[in-house]
Amino acid sequence: MARQDYYELLGVSRNASEAEIKKAYRRLAMKYHPDRNPGDTVAEERFKEAKEAYEVLSDPRKRAAYDQFGHAGVDASAGPGGGAGPGPGFGDIFDTVFGDIFGGGRGGSRAYRGADLRYDLELSLEEAVAGTTVKIRIPTLRDCATCHGTGARPGSSAATCDTCGGAGQVRMQQGFFSVQQTCPQCRGSGRIIREPCPDCGGAGRVRDRKTISVKIPPGVDTGDRIRLAGEGEAGERGGPPGDLYVHIFVKEHPIFTREDADLHCDVPISFVTAALGGELEVPTLDGKVVLKIPPETQSGKVFRLRGKGVKPIRGHRQGDLLCRVMVETPVNLNREQKELLRKFGETLDQGGSQHNPKAHSWLDGVKKFFEELKF
Ligand SMILES: [Zn+2]
Ligand SMILES: [Zn+2]
Repeated sequence: MARQDYYELLGVSRNASEAEIKKAYRRLAMKYHPDRNPGDTVAEERFKEAKEAYEVLSDPRKRAAYDQFGHAGVDASAGPGGGAGPGPGFGDIFDTVFGDIFGGGRGGSRAYRGADLRYDLELSLEEAVAGTTVKIRIPTLRDCATCHGTGARPGSSAATCDTCGGAGQVRMQQGFFSVQQTCPQCRGSGRIIREPCPDCGGAGRVRDRKTISVKIPPGVDTGDRIRLAGEGEAGERGGPPGDLYVHIFVKEHPIFTREDADLHCDVPISFVTAALGGELEVPTLDGKVVLKIPPETQSGKVFRLRGKGVKPIRGHRQGDLLCRVMVETPVNLNREQKELLRKFGETLDQGGSQHNPKAHSWLDGVKKFFEELKF
């Protein structure tokens, strides 16, 4: 997807002043702020784009890098996660620039979205191809049973913060701006716990683990990610929970290796079968099939079994199974077998080059190579 130019996005010229950029961002942010457009994902996207553009263009160093190199110049500052879901809420710069507009009207205590969680899930190839449902244990936060989530020692209660009067926010003057900031005393909660609960230390929440069921669709592969909305860490102060991302890792299989839709396997065959032809049972993920080996099959020849591969989660092609036959040189031969092979070898030699044309043409090539080396 082509990314829109930050200046275009904010609707300002490339030599816009800091004040013009701020004004443009403020206009867009007010229009698209999630509080004004609840549930509107398009507005949320616009809001995030405007925020990203403003973060870059309001920083002289980042703006210079962007002017010179475009998006590539500032992408490194996009932070960890690299687009793995929404970033850290709408707090940060929005608070410092617009705190007085939105912060004040809601009693000050800003709700924060919980953190996203990542869970690495190992699957067998069979599970990944067929799909499965797995139960996983993930960390979670629950209300503390001792204080019922209040954070105060049973019998005591939290008092209203006297720095902010319970609002959770304090107003500061910064130049021409009146800026609302999170109260440093109560850190936004509006309440001070003088006697913290002994079990949760005043947090009101304790760490726990919960078991959830995750449905794995058929066709997933290493590197795929499944997002479980709302299964991340609990939000703060009533904020929405984060998401859980299940990262898929497919274990090595003893027989098959997967390459997108196709499966590959190596099939050893005896040199007698290779020479005379024959039938061979080969495994597939849904049972055995018979593979016909034609006479005079060379080692390394690949046979394609159509439709015996994988149907990846993206794309519609049902893949194939590619069997590469490897001619196995016989080992642990007894005296009699060796004698038979020697005799067999003599009959091959009597036939000249007709029984092993490749070896002969290669030897001819080598001979020619050495002749040409002579001065
Ligand atoms: Zn507690
Ligand atoms: Zn306070």
